[in-house]
Amino acid sequence: MEERGIRFVRLWFTDVLGSLKSVAIAPAEVEGAIGEGVGFDGSAIEGFARVFESDMVAHPDPSTYQVLPWRQAGRSTARMLCDIKLPDGSPSYADPRYVLKRAMRRAADMGFTFYIHPEIEFFLLRSLQPPVPLDDGGYFDHTTLGDGTDFRRDVITMLEQMGISVEFSHHEAAPGQHEIDLRYADALTMADNIMTFRVVVREVAVSQGVHATFMPKPFSQHPGSGMHTHMSLFEGDTNAFYDASDEYNLSKTAKHFIAGLLRHAPEITAVTNQWVNSYKRLVGGGEAPSFACWGRANRSALIRVPQFTPGKTSSARIEYRAVDSAVNPYLAFALLLNAGLKGVEGEYPLPEETEDEVWRLSDRERQTIGIRELPRNLDNAIRLMEESELVAGTLGEHVYEYFLRNKREEFDAYRKQVTPWELERHIKVM
Ligand code: GLU
Ligand code: MG
Ligand code: MG
Repeated sequence: MEERGIRFVRLWFTDVLGSLKSVAIAPAEVEGAIGEGVGFDGSAIEGFARVFESDMVAHPDPSTYQVLPWRQAGRSTARMLCDIKLPDGSPSYADPRYVLKRAMRRAADMGFTFYIHPEIEFFLLRSLQPPVPLDDGGYFDHTTLGDGTDFRRDVITMLEQMGISVEFSHHEAAPGQHEIDLRYADALTMADNIMTFRVVVREVAVSQGVHATFMPKPFSQHPGSGMHTHMSLFEGDTNAFYDASDEYNLSKTAKHFIAGLLRHAPEITAVTNQWVNSYKRLVGGGEAPSFACWGRANRSALIRVPQFTPGKTSSARIEYRAVDSAVNPYLAFALLLNAGLKGVEGEYPLPEETEDEVWRLSDRERQTIGIRELPRNLDNAIRLMEESELVAGTLGEHVYEYFLRNKREEFDAYRKQVTPWELERHIKVM
């Protein structure tokens, strides 16, 4: 830190709804912070504590130390991600990072490491109110410099300076919409990377005088921003999802894992799609799923099995397409993992693949082939979560209760709104 002239070290952690929190300390304090942690008032953080037991301690994880590339010489700043503990040293029940660590430890007990590669979509806007897209490009369009191409280049350069590899980036289908895919990493590293990614995108946006948003569905007439999540389980160096002898190159473990996800998808959706606005994206079409089914070429399916690259066994994986870009990645990955593992433990049978555009089928046709619907709004999603042992067990009582309470409030506030759509449709004719 001395050599690099670091002035501050920011300690980062994430609240229950997935917002990044940050406290800056001087370099002289870092040694103490790593040893004893840094205390803060948890009652002031979303979801952290009840007021009467609000002392929490942030313990920086030194393996996450990185210099922030957008803070230049003279202002050099670094960051570390933190684990949150109670004053007695036990892990904080409110820390999303701990929720994911606990789920990954369970997977490790079964011999598995959980890997993730996300496709992160977001919008660049000229203005926020009303939202105006920065460009009118479409899928894979090569837009002119200044219309987002340089933006992606700057974001990717900074991510790489922070040790986060990017695999792929392109303009997405909607005007102003972009996608950046991070190279796969274990789920905890990836959740940390996604939190960093959002900060980098926002910093680059500010520096270029534009706005970036991860809101799931800012425009009714355009597709929303998904965070399609590619997953695999490894046993040591071996991809446990791969089986050379299977027609899909999928192992039994992979098939049970998919079956687990399909069966438990509706009850985990309140977390993978946590906002009122999330459900405006999951309406069928726009390549976002609304039914719990799987397929290979089928892009309306919840789970897609991407084409296997011959010879590259590490690439055998599945893609869960419901998650949106405004998710808390720690909580979502913990639930995806545990839902899949339930299928593995219980040896759930894999339902038939669906090739149809499932949203074109009638409800009755879907019922006949056993395809369940994802919740249609946050209220339905909450109700399913309220009955879910899987979600209660994975999140732990505190996060589970807090999350439900918070989301009920969000839906109640929404329910009271009279929308422009209603006014336009009804005010004259009623
Ligand atoms: N934007 C779409 C979604 O909301 C995904 C488009 C794609 O297939 O990449 O899920
Ligand atoms: Mg995409
Ligand atoms: Mg995809």
